[in-house]
Amino acid sequence: MSTEPLPFLPFALPEIGEEEIAEVVDTLRSGWVTTGPKAKRFEAMFTEFLGDASLQSIAVNSATAGLHLALEALGVGPGDEVITTTHTFTASAEVARYLGADVKLVDIDPATLCIDPTKIEAAITPRTKCIIPVHYGGLACDMVAILAIAKKHGLKVVEDAAHALPTTLKGELIGTLQSDATVFSFYANKTMTTGEGGMLVTRDPELAARAKVMRLHGISRDAFDRFTAKVPSWYYEIVAPGFKYNLTDIAAALGLHQLGRARGFQLRRAELAAQYNAALAELPVVLPPQPPAGELHSWHLYAIRLAEGTRIGRDAVIEALFKDGIGCSVHYIPLHQQPYWRDRYQLRAEDFPQSQLAYERMLSLPLYTRMTDADVPRVVSSLRRALVD
Ligand SMILES: *Cc1c(COP(=O)(O)O)cnc(C)c1O
Repeated sequence: MSTEPLPFLPFALPEIGEEEIAEVVDTLRSGWVTTGPKAKRFEAMFTEFLGDASLQSIAVNSATAGLHLALEALGVGPGDEVITTTHTFTASAEVARYLGADVKLVDIDPATLCIDPTKIEAAITPRTKCIIPVHYGGLACDMVAILAIAKKHGLKVVEDAAHALPTTLKGELIGTLQSDATVFSFYANKTMTTGEGGMLVTRDPELAARAKVMRLHGISRDAFDRFTAKVPSWYYEIVAPGFKYNLTDIAAALGLHQLGRARGFQLRRAELAAQYNAALAELPVVLPPQPPAGELHSWHLYAIRLAEGTRIGRDAVIEALFKDGIGCSVHYIPLHQQPYWRDRYQLRAEDFPQSQLAYERMLSLPLYTRMTDADVPRVVSSLRRALVD
């Protein structure tokens, strides 16, 4: 038997091709490295990808920035409350705090790992302004229920779609639903990447106009206009204390080609997820929530939960896989467990029983397009050794 250890299989890796590299080099040679023609093209291409010309796509340097801009444009501020899931990354919630608003965390539905719509209404108060659903792992939330609750109570909806490119709900791509805004992430480990980056998508022209101004220092004239304008470009007006959230053309150069490959990336991820589903069927684990027939799941994450009564716990499983040269992660340490959120709102694990239970048993397995067909059986063998052999 060979004793040669297999190379380490990281938890995540981006797939950057020669086209991306050539486009970045072209940007560097062009003399225009910050926000300019490529960012503008990337925005147009994004709207085209979503297939709805009534949408505006606004490129930003992170999804966090996009969420912040969306809430700011919706007028979220001190005295307001924003509802989101506890089972998410802190960015989904911290943006409300940037604006002085408070956060109400809600438990998940264990069948989807997304916010439980039946628990949203109990969290609504006269101060509630906005709901931020998160399409956990790339599976669409129950947006029909969430949009209905928002409508009934006069609330805004900003979708955290950091995981959800491309994901569908009833055949419609996330980004094209009737929420006020949707925000995608192009962080290094997401389903497509620009290194750092994000896209704010909205069909509300006022929200779009405000976000564009606030994206770049509160300058009333778009930086893209400054690039293309035929009139002298020195004159501008500051209308608000804005932020520095514009996406560079170096990043957009990556985005132009990554977006072109997004459908193909999804197919490969779905293929790997199906391999995992089949190979894990015999093990004492709960598979990730599956999409309804005919729907796209972006498969950003492949998060399994250990069945009750496994002989070793989650931490030990991650340790065992690591010893076999396999990287794993946990999505997420719920916000109610994080010192800042726990202490600020006196949160207790008992108040979020489903998220807590999922957290204690879950781990995310490697799932990305650069994995080979041999990688899935390798991960599953390692899991089997840890859990049953
Ligand atoms: C990655 C992520 C974000 C933040 O994305 P950035 O582009 O890194 O700002 C927000 N929400 C969720 C759920 C994420 O996974």
